[in-house]
Amino acid sequence: QRPMQTLNKAQQETEGERDSIDVNHAVVHWFKCDLRTYDNKSLYLASKLAKSHGVPLICLHIVSPQDYKAHMTSPVRVDFALRTLEVLKDDLAKLDIPLYTEVVEERRAIPDRILDLCDGWGASHIFCNIEYEVDELRREALMTRKGLERGIAVTAVHDTCVVAPGELSSGTGGQYAVYSPWYRAWVAYIHRHPQQLQTFDTPSPNPASSRQDFKDIFDSNIPEAPENKRLTKEEKTRFRSMWPPGEHEAHERLDKFLKEKVEKYKDTRNFPAVNTTAMLSVHFSSGTLSARTAVARARDANTTNALDGGHVGIKGWISEIAWRDFYKHVLVNWPYVCMNKPFKPEYTNIRWEYDEALFQKWCTGQTGFPFIDAAMRQLNHMGYMHNRARMGVASFLAKDLLIDWRRGERYFMEHLIDGDFASNNGGWGFSASTGVDPQPYFRIFNPHLQSEKFDPDGEYIRKWVPELANVRGKAIHDPYERGSEREAKKNGYPKACVEHKASRARALARYKEGLGRD
Ligand code: FAD
Repeated sequence: QRPMQTLNKAQQETEGERDSIDVNHAVVHWFKCDLRTYDNKSLYLASKLAKSHGVPLICLHIVSPQDYKAHMTSPVRVDFALRTLEVLKDDLAKLDIPLYTEVVEERRAIPDRILDLCDGWGASHIFCNIEYEVDELRREALMTRKGLERGIAVTAVHDTCVVAPGELSSGTGGQYAVYSPWYRAWVAYIHRHPQQLQTFDTPSPNPASSRQDFKDIFDSNIPEAPENKRLTKEEKTRFRSMWPPGEHEAHERLDKFLKEKVEKYKDTRNFPAVNTTAMLSVHFSSGTLSARTAVARARDANTTNALDGGHVGIKGWISEIAWRDFYKHVLVNWPYVCMNKPFKPEYTNIRWEYDEALFQKWCTGQTGFPFIDAAMRQLNHMGYMHNRARMGVASFLAKDLLIDWRRGERYFMEHLIDGDFASNNGGWGFSASTGVDPQPYFRIFNPHLQSEKFDPDGEYIRKWVPELANVRGKAIHDPYERGSEREAKKNGYPKACVEHKASRARALARYKEGLGRD
């Protein structure tokens, strides 16, 4: 609870202080993971304040190589954010709003640098949306305090979740550590507070004189990716054709999903070969689409206009977006999950393996388990992996290979375009049975059965593992054991790197040992 309280206190101080700080020459909005103009609460509030005082709104984004390093941000995610900033800059320019971007090497220098910029622009008020990771909360709290000393009001508001962390508590006043009751409370809260789904308008245009006043900013360029986060030429071309940036793209995807795909979502969402999920995670994590907008639009498309009834596809999809809120609430309530600790402290003593060769087989999709290899190759090629496959590879790493799940969590962050600390940490904790509301430790996926169940015709495997493209029938799930040894060998596909039955027994023993159970 501590970081939230710190922030709330800082916020209260700011709120109190705001009356005594006059709006002078400008109001600033600080963009972080909220790279959109529509339904952005902080941007909306900043614009409203600027308009009511007849002063311009200036937008700001800081590129921080140290932040990228600390968060293990993947190069493909950096590239997506920078391309999105180009779109955002153009969209804001149409409203005569300048978007200033700057590279600040040292993370801890960011608050002072932003306040210096505000001084230079004569801005007395800066707004931003809260990010809930511990480092980010501390930074916002620090900036708020420093701002107060310098006569600059810093207002950080809840925006990224549909229901702000801290709003839901169980019957006994505690925090939910299980998704289902939390979800019921989440739905009930929104039904009680329908304004929660009201979206915020795009900002009002600036006075026309802003064009001239901030000419330098309008004429400036978005920075390049820092050297250690640059894509190769081939990667740039590949990722750019797969993942067009910006909020217009996000809204088009959302429309298309609600019109064409949501119908089949419930029945098909678990089949990685079928493209029926929204593929919107990159837009939620970079903030080109707000979760509030998505839920509001889905509710409006529902037959009953409700969140948890009516159309099963829509209901199911909204409940998936709720998982995103759930994991953010978890990290606010139990911030130690940000510090490489398992949510369940009793799982701290499991003896993990650190076999580098096996880990590399997992990373590169060379484990000899076709479904697992297909999934890892999808990740490496697209910066994205289907949810069912994410669960499969995470369980395989933690249980079949007994490799420390935090290595997998890190690899995901380093390669996903949609990397989001809370969802990633939550997904890994679920799969490794160390997290909040996890899969029980004795439930160990059989990678061959998972493959048969969720890729029955082997379409997903054939797409991503070309060595097995000509393997027919069920042999695709386990070619060496099911009669396609020659074909697999001829094309250089490896044999299974572990034997599932034996590794399952080993995992059970190791978990029991770690938990001190017989
Ligand atoms: P859809 O099925 O269309 O769902 C819509 C949205 O709901 C998603 O975009 C996402 O924002 C949210 N959502 C869906 N499932 C989950 C879930 N299980 N947990 C949290 N939110 C969910 N998601 C990320 O955004 N970033 C991550 O870094 C991430 N890491 C993961 C790691 C593991 C081990 C696992 C098991 C899951 C992880 N997920 C992560 C959740 C999920 O896999 C992706 O959000 C989903 O695959 C994105 O595809 P989509 O947009 O087509 O999803």
